[in-house]
Amino acid sequence: MRKPIIAIDGPAGAGKSTVARIVAERLGYIYIDTGAMYRAVALAVLRSGISISEHAKITALAKALDLRFEKVDNEQRLFSDGEDVTEAIRTPEATRLSSPVSAIRGVRNRLVELQRKMGECGGIVMEGRDIGTVVFPNAEIKVFLTASAEERARRRTEELRQKGIEADMSRIAADIAERDLRDSSRVHAPLKQAPDAVLIETDNMTAEQVADAIIELHNARAIEGCSTQ
Ligand code: C5P
Repeated sequence: MRKPIIAIDGPAGAGKSTVARIVAERLGYIYIDTGAMYRAVALAVLRSGISISEHAKITALAKALDLRFEKVDNEQRLFSDGEDVTEAIRTPEATRLSSPVSAIRGVRNRLVELQRKMGECGGIVMEGRDIGTVVFPNAEIKVFLTASAEERARRRTEELRQKGIEADMSRIAADIAERDLRDSSRVHAPLKQAPDAVLIETDNMTAEQVADAIIELHNARAIEGCSTQ
């Protein structure tokens, strides 16, 4: 029997990646960061010099890109056409461009197709903006994580500083607000909570506590008869 799919959606800085990583580790599931895939396309667009208005060219570029997640020294890395782009996709430029790039229908179609393939065998924790609504609308466990705008900006700033990237919190707050607005108002697969997703407000919770809550949901589904083996 297929293991469950855990879909985690929410706005930027809500803690999705940290929490999804912990949940996947504890359950022995595969972790997929779909935002990293949109960022990798944005990075390829930046490097190619293609203008953001050239949707057909960007779609062709996304279709030709070979994107793979691989574990290196027990850490998940993203390879784009064989190059490890795990760090390069986190620059402010790639971050900013990821949102308009992800609004292009052809890009979404391509990445959603890849994401469905990655998750078809279950036993996966996938996080993004449209996992519970579009990629896996039948996921057994759906969670929508959120936190106040201030807390999300604080977390992102801290995360970047820990990676040695100098970050200005007010600039990050403005970037996050712009991305969230764009992600929520786009025509194709906007960021929104699936009607059957469990909302978790994470302001006063640690990542471990959020992960505990998700694992509890997972185990409750298992008791209801959904296989976790
Ligand atoms: O999650 P992260 O902030 O790294 O995602 C970068 C961008 O990719 C988001 O701002 C959003 O525009 C896009 N994205 C998306 N759908 C997903 C994951 C990310 O549109 N499933």
